[in-house]
This record gives sequence, structure tokens and C-alpha cells, in this order.
Amino acid sequence: MAEIGRRFIYGLYDPRNPKLVMVVGETSRTIEQRLSVYLCQAQRKRRLDRRKMPSEFWILKLLDAGIRPGIRLLATTSDKHWQTSERRFITIWRRKNPTLLNKHRGGNGRDVGPVKLICDKHNRRRVLLPSGQWLCHICARNRGRKTYYKNPKASHDRHRKWIREHPGYTAKIARRWYKKHRRKSIEYASNWAKMNRRQFNATMRRIYHKNLEKSRAYGRDKYHAHKLGLTVVQFRAQLAAA
Ligand SMILES: [Zn+2]
Repeated sequence: MAEIGRRFIYGLYDPRNPKLVMVVGETSRTIEQRLSVYLCQAQRKRRLDRRKMPSEFWILKLLDAGIRPGIRLLATTSDKHWQTSERRFITIWRRKNPTLLNKHRGGNGRDVGPVKLICDKHNRRRVLLPSGQWLCHICARNRGRKTYYKNPKASHDRHRKWIREHPGYTAKIARRWYKKHRRKSIEYASNWAKMNRRQFNATMRRIYHKNLEKSRAYGRDKYHAHKLGLTVVQFRAQLAAA
């Protein structure tokens, strides 16, 4: 733990190009600790398939290449001046490096006060509304918004109704989809078969028996038709007429 009241402004860089700072940030801990938090966070987000920040994408890319990003101290400030200081360093480095990965202009760290200044859900800067709430613009827009249908299945029901009213259309879409994603659909079917083995077997048995019945009937008709010197179609037409 660093001295109380002391803050560090750091820069992350690629060891292959150590002069170029890619991310600027601020920490009250040591910069080594901050770096390990970056590495953990990035890998954790990948493991949980969470949304990643540009800096985390960059870190993961480096880690995949077998490189550990470097960290270096840019300045030391106090907990009164770190916000302006961080902002200043971000501005400076954005001018030097147009590909700087910082998303915000800085000075929004969580420990500013009891209020979080960045929305956790949308990753946007939150503003103080006249109502006294701190919200990002997306949260503010969605505030008080109700779902249109009271019945949660209503939308699904409407969809089914549309399908009923447009016979053949879904089949057309399905055919197009199978044509386009043939390999995928085969994979899907085989996975489905593995998962629902009993159901799959029952379906296959039904198809087999249906076809078996058909072919037996055809064989029977063919036998009788040959006896009379007719084709199967002619024989069946004769049967139908009689
Ligand atoms: Zn939000």
C-alpha cells in the first residue's frame, strides 16, 4: 500500500515499443499492483465472456502473443489533484498517440466519492439529473419505460399468428437457410440427435416404417400389374376405377 493521500499516474505500454504509452490511468496502489489487476480483469472478462474495454482487448492480444504489458510511472500526485492530473496526462498522450486506448477523458475513478461516475451497465459517463439521480444517458432514456405488452408471451403469440397467416413463407426461409448453412444445419441436426436420442430413434423408426409400407405396397402392385401386362400406374388407375 502506498502512502496515504498519494496517487500515481501510470502508463501501460507494449514492451516491443516501450516509448509509446497505450493506456493512461491513476492508482492509489503501486503501479505493479495496478498492472496485475489489469491482467486479472482482462482474463476474467474473457473467461466469463463479459464485455471488454479497448484496453482489455489490447492486453489480451498481447498475452496471446506471449507478451506481458509493461507499466511505467508518469507522475505522482495527491488525492486532491489526481483528477486534473490524470486528465492532463490523457490529453497529452492522446495528442502524442492517436491510438490511445482510454475511453474517457479521465478523472472519473470510482473512489471520487460515494457516487459512481461511470454507468456499470452501459459504460457511459453518468450525469446528475434535476431529480437528483446519477444516470448515464441510456439509463436516463430507459427510465420508467414499460414493456408494450402486459402479457410477456404476446409478442411470441403475434409472431405465431403471422406465421399462420403466411403459409409457406417460413418454409421458404428455412429452405434458403438450409441451402446457405448446409454444414451448420447438419451439425445442428446431429447435435440434436445426440441430445434427444430416444426421440430421434422414434422419428427415424416412423420414417422407416412409412417408407417400408410404401415400398411393400408398390411391390405388390407391380407383381399384379406384370401379370396383367400393365404398368403400376395403369394398374392403380384400373383399381381406382373399379
Ligand atoms: Zn446506463
